[in-house]
Amino acid sequence: MKSVRLHGTGNLQLHDEDMPVAGDGQKLIHVKSVGVCGSDLHWFAEGSIGDAKLEHPLVLGHEFAGITEDGQRVAIDPAIPCGHCEFCEHGHPNLCSNLIFAGHGKTDGALREWMAWNEKSLFPIPDSISDADGAMLEPLGVAIHTVDLGKLKTGMTVGVFGCGPIGLLILQMAKLAGAANIIATDKLAHRLEAAKRFGAIDAFSAGEGGELEQIRAATNGRGVDVAFEAAGAQDSVDTCFAAVASGGKVVLAGIPDDDRTSFSASTARRKGLTIKLVRRMKHTYPRAIELVSKGLVDVRSLVTHRFPLKDAHEAFRVAERREGLKILIEV
Ligand SMILES: [Zn+2]
Ligand SMILES: [Zn+2]
Repeated sequence: MKSVRLHGTGNLQLHDEDMPVAGDGQKLIHVKSVGVCGSDLHWFAEGSIGDAKLEHPLVLGHEFAGITEDGQRVAIDPAIPCGHCEFCEHGHPNLCSNLIFAGHGKTDGALREWMAWNEKSLFPIPDSISDADGAMLEPLGVAIHTVDLGKLKTGMTVGVFGCGPIGLLILQMAKLAGAANIIATDKLAHRLEAAKRFGAIDAFSAGEGGELEQIRAATNGRGVDVAFEAAGAQDSVDTCFAAVASGGKVVLAGIPDDDRTSFSASTARRKGLTIKLVRRMKHTYPRAIELVSKGLVDVRSLVTHRFPLKDAHEAFRVAERREGLKILIEV
């Protein structure tokens, strides 16, 4: 079968290799569709993410859908929590101390024709959910978890800072959760347009120094109740802390390049802010499937580019240049 492995920074290679063998409690999956995630781009550009380093030529890909050998179309949760550690027992499988994650560390991901994965992590999808939609359920799950952490109340004003695919899904989830006003920022004009299309009342250009004043003006000087950071950029984090109202929340979903996030202690203290960090997602696939199959969230129009597996390198280059929104690889 064909696979694509990351051998070092910027070095993706197409391979011919043996079919995987399904172990106990696993099924073989014929992979159909794989999304390129910002975290994949960290691996691609830096050969690492946070404190995890490339240990072997790694198959990336953790946003994916496929079909089992017995013909069941499935979305696949890339995380396999152990189910019995303290954190799993407490209902935090995303914090599992023995977590296995596709396309991360020792575990190969989905950029290959076939893979074996735990049956418990396979979620059947109806025909109304395409393979591409199925791959989008993973970033949607992250957005669901992110908005869960924000504990929105109906009528709140929300800020979404960074409007890549995750930010745009957070925006849609915040709207569904009852946010009355959503203000978005990004550096790229096409993302701001998308933010407006998905329901942002205002979308301001970031990085030119004017967005904070614009947010204050748009909220009568008050700021937003909950600020979701989805750019993974320090200037965006700074805007979150400056733009959130007293007593509000900042939820950090973005992953910074240099593994550091900082904020003004006095601002955070005076405002009495609650700061939350997003670690992947919980058992969100069933909810994500409901939302997409009922047409309550639009994942489909986020997919702007599709490449065959053999052109994975080109797909990563396009994603790296932040062209379009979600880049998909079809296997
Ligand atoms: Zn991802
Ligand atoms: Zn565990």
